[in-house]
Amino acid sequence: MDCRHLDFEKFLEHFPNIYEKCLSVGIDAKKDLIPVVPACHYFCGGIDVDKNGKSSIKNLYACGEASRTGLHGANRLASNSLLEALVYGHNIANEIINNQDELAESFSNIPEWDADGTTAPKELIMIKHNRKALQTVMSDFVSIVRSDERLAKALKRLDEIYHDTENIYKKAKLSPQLCELRNLNAIAYLIVKQSQKRKENRGAFYSLDCY
Ligand SMILES: Cc1cc2nc3c(=O)[nH]c(=O)nc-3n(C[C@H](O)[C@H](O)[C@H](O)COP(=O)(O)OP(=O)(O)OC[C@H]3O[C@@H](n4cnc5c(N)ncnc54)[C@H](O)[C@@H]3O)c2cc1C
Repeated sequence: MDCRHLDFEKFLEHFPNIYEKCLSVGIDAKKDLIPVVPACHYFCGGIDVDKNGKSSIKNLYACGEASRTGLHGANRLASNSLLEALVYGHNIANEIINNQDELAESFSNIPEWDADGTTAPKELIMIKHNRKALQTVMSDFVSIVRSDERLAKALKRLDEIYHDTENIYKKAKLSPQLCELRNLNAIAYLIVKQSQKRKENRGAFYSLDCY
């Protein structure tokens, strides 16, 4: 991004933080170009909910970026995500307050987690490696520009990571890192499958194989 032609005083007045941040990594927007890369700004999709944040699974509510409320289209409706998170969070809280008795009853039958037969993960490096591998697959093949070939490749790699992770999960004690990796894997899989189903270019990503 070239800001060199702009009135520098005005630029500084409008974007003091951006100017400072650039300076901290050795870029002076007054005389240098600012490198630009695509980055994730909002996640479209998520758990389908009604206007009170209720999902199709009993007692599971979702709001904010995890949910799909229907307020946005294929692209985020500008600047509405924070409002959406607040309004739906509020609706969910009211819904739960009004149904406390029913909720308490359904949670009383959940058995304690049984960790018998598992050991502390000896191979933490595997969890770390798989997370990094998953991030690389998603950044390289499931980014703004996608194609049938890239998505098929991504699915193949995700499958390997999935089986690897499930093997660790069967034997290792639960840890936040392991749970997050499993969740990331599930979400990555859903994103790829949904992308493969999309046969038109609309919304947040572009496929080289669609119109
Ligand atoms: C650069 C940028 C600019 C944006 N600008 C705007 C804007 O101008 N207007 C607007 O409306 N929206 C904007 N958005 C979108 C908006 O910020 C998000 O949609 C909104 O913050 C989502 O809220 P959330 O509560 O669903 O998720 P988050 O704000 O992401 O909150 C999720 C929380 O869960 C925590 N968490 C994650 N994993 C775990 C775990 N395993 N255990 C416990 N906690 C965990 C995280 O630390 C985090 O605190 C912007 C987003 C970005 C990235």
